[in-house]
Amino acid sequence: CFCQVTGSLDDCACDVETIDAFNNEKLFPKLQTLLQSDYFRFYKVNLNKPCPFWKDNRLCGQKNCAVIPCTPNEVPDGIKTNGHHNKYLEEANKEECERTEKLGAVDRSLSEETKVSLREWNKHDDEAERFCVIDNEESPDSQYVDLLLNPERFTGYKGPEAWQIWNSIYEENCFKPYTVKRPLNPMVSYSGTDGKLFYSWLEGQCVEKRAFFRLVSGLHSSINIHLSARYLLDENWSETKWGHNVSEFQQRFDAHLTKGEGPKRLRNLYFLYLIELRALSKILPLFQRPSFQLYTGQPAQDQQLKLKLLELLQLAKSFPLHFDETSLFAGNKEEAASLKEDLRLTFFNISRIMDCVGCFKCRLWGKLQTQGLGTALKILFSERLIEALPRSINTNPTFQLSRQELVSLLNAFGRISTSIRELENFRSLLSKVR
Ligand code: FAD
Repeated sequence: CFCQVTGSLDDCACDVETIDAFNNEKLFPKLQTLLQSDYFRFYKVNLNKPCPFWKDNRLCGQKNCAVIPCTPNEVPDGIKTNGHHNKYLEEANKEECERTEKLGAVDRSLSEETKVSLREWNKHDDEAERFCVIDNEESPDSQYVDLLLNPERFTGYKGPEAWQIWNSIYEENCFKPYTVKRPLNPMVSYSGTDGKLFYSWLEGQCVEKRAFFRLVSGLHSSINIHLSARYLLDENWSETKWGHNVSEFQQRFDAHLTKGEGPKRLRNLYFLYLIELRALSKILPLFQRPSFQLYTGQPAQDQQLKLKLLELLQLAKSFPLHFDETSLFAGNKEEAASLKEDLRLTFFNISRIMDCVGCFKCRLWGKLQTQGLGTALKILFSERLIEALPRSINTNPTFQLSRQELVSLLNAFGRISTSIRELENFRSLLSKVR
């Protein structure tokens, strides 16, 4: 039974029960309220980019794969005219420059040493920027999508096309050794004998590569939990019924039905949760800057939303058993730098594979979630820039996020948080079936 997912998580000081209680009772409801707001529900994305990896990329044509883009009237003017320009930061910068000029205190608060190290880290941060592909929001192919009207759920996208995507993500991008035979049918790739080989290989990997595999696998689990929780149960001319499909869930995660793989995959979901939660807790100083605003053009609402966001980030910070990212890249400096670069490029590739997903709805959420995870990694890899934020209060922020990054980060975490909440629902439904 998937209920075997209990106890402490590998490479972390945290246990599943602590995450369940924290997420389901405290964080999940607050996050859901934020995600319903105009600022977070409208996401600009280019769903028409060609697949950069293979030519015969077929679109699935399923009705449930369609994405309905927003009409121009639906998106608040403030977001439309300024949203893509990171308005809040531009205004903040202008205001701060003016204030600094008045005080005649350009950079006086920073020591020479700090300035040099900030320049170095700025270079590093430019690179961290590219953890994932960021769509050009100015492109005529980019459109606003209302995420609440296009929920992630069962679409019917499956078979060789879907496997090809998962396969390339795991086979090409997860540092898998060539000694493991490439299976013809991805259905058997990570179960049975191959699965055993794969996991024994994984155990021998350094903690960073293992962590990377677990992030991707956690994302895969989350997507499959969503499609099981919002499954197409019935459809006739008058109504369409969506809801939990317990047997679909069991097929994917029950220990016996998956030869023991299911619970491991769920543990990877918890690991992904810890990484994104950690990133949220770290980013608090950026949003605590007085000039920061979530800009939609409605000052009173924007102010309210900022307070709610700060509350959520404070809550994330208060989590007692955070993942300790200093356990990663702790080896010698050169090796750590090259490993970081490997992981960055690998993740960059995964985000490009999302343009090959043949179902538009899956592509939308796949792109959003990889961008959100890429943003979380960017935050975790920019620790020193973020630490310098409170010291740079009178100058340009040392670390910035665009609106697109912020929206994807919060919504991606919203998906993982909902998946953990859904596990509780499935647990209760399963107890009734037995
Ligand atoms: P798949 O989920 O396709 O998995 C293929 C193989 O990978 C499995 O046989 C197993 O060996 C291995 N595997 C499965 N889970 C894990 C894991 N967590 N960790 C490691 N290995 C694993 N479908 C929808 O209905 N709605 C969506 O919104 C949706 N979004 C998608 C987004 C992307 C980016 C992709 C690639 C697919 C999406 N799909 C979606 C399709 C869905 O994920 C499955 O591919 C599909 O339902 C077929 O499932 P399957 O049982 O064949 O196994």
